[in-house]
Amino acid sequence: MEYIPAKTIISGYAENNNWFGNNYNMNIYKGCNHGCIYCDSRSDCYRIDSFDEVRVKENALNLIYRDLKSKRKKGVIGTGAMSDPYNPFEEQLELTRGALEIINQFGFGISIATKSDLAARDIDILQKIQKHSPVLVKITVTSCDDGLAEKVEPNAPVSSRRFAAIKKLSGSGIFAGILMMPILPFIEDTEENITGIVRLAHENGARFIYPAFGVTLRMNQREWFYSKIDELFPKKKELYIKEFGDSYGCHSPKAKQLKAVFKEECRRYGILYKMEDIITAYKKGYYDRQLSLL
Ligand code: SF4
Repeated sequence: MEYIPAKTIISGYAENNNWFGNNYNMNIYKGCNHGCIYCDSRSDCYRIDSFDEVRVKENALNLIYRDLKSKRKKGVIGTGAMSDPYNPFEEQLELTRGALEIINQFGFGISIATKSDLAARDIDILQKIQKHSPVLVKITVTSCDDGLAEKVEPNAPVSSRRFAAIKKLSGSGIFAGILMMPILPFIEDTEENITGIVRLAHENGARFIYPAFGVTLRMNQREWFYSKIDELFPKKKELYIKEFGDSYGCHSPKAKQLKAVFKEECRRYGILYKMEDIITAYKKGYYDRQLSLL
């Protein structure tokens, strides 16, 4: 494991961030070895060399302690953009777990995005955090079929393990749900897949599903993705080239129809799917309570 120097780990402050209401951002790791064939973080614009090798920021927990001690505004810390906080090394290193303990100590909230069931290991600390601040766990699921998930996200735990983690989190009172993105055109954009994910979400206690019926592709990422689908899904690359050319946003040709089915199924089960509803629901009570204390 390579350790890399870092000056700070908790960055930014946004008052009303429309991405799950995250106020700060935290990345303890750089790179990710889950191997998702569509991963946006390998795009040229992010300039991350050897993206598949996980590196750790040196002295991470001390930096987090120092960062949080100096923050004047409390808020929700988002983690899971650009790297997975529950990559396989986290099981031994326990750095995300250590960060959660510090986050709890300083009275911040947490919003996790991951593709691993390892997040359920930290239920005990998440329960402590939610006594004072909002907690949100988003687990990405793009296919209800484990075989397909193994192809598109080869080193991440299969979808059934992710659903089991949602069940544990939700059963322990943690606000947990699904990031259903990307749904790969011509590969995952079937009604059967979408209704299957919503049904399993319901059966496992997910509170929300946030969807995207397509994928984004840009320089470097596109080449990687095309080489992988050529290997795994014969003839699909040609469909992508014909339908999308060099477009950044590659929406499923069936997006409209799938969205309608998705919404109907979510309403049937009482699962939230609009960003504003999800933010309002997981933050409910916390900031009202702080205001009343003021
Ligand atoms: S888990 Fe996320 S960061 Fe890691 S390879 Fe997959 S999409 Fe990329």
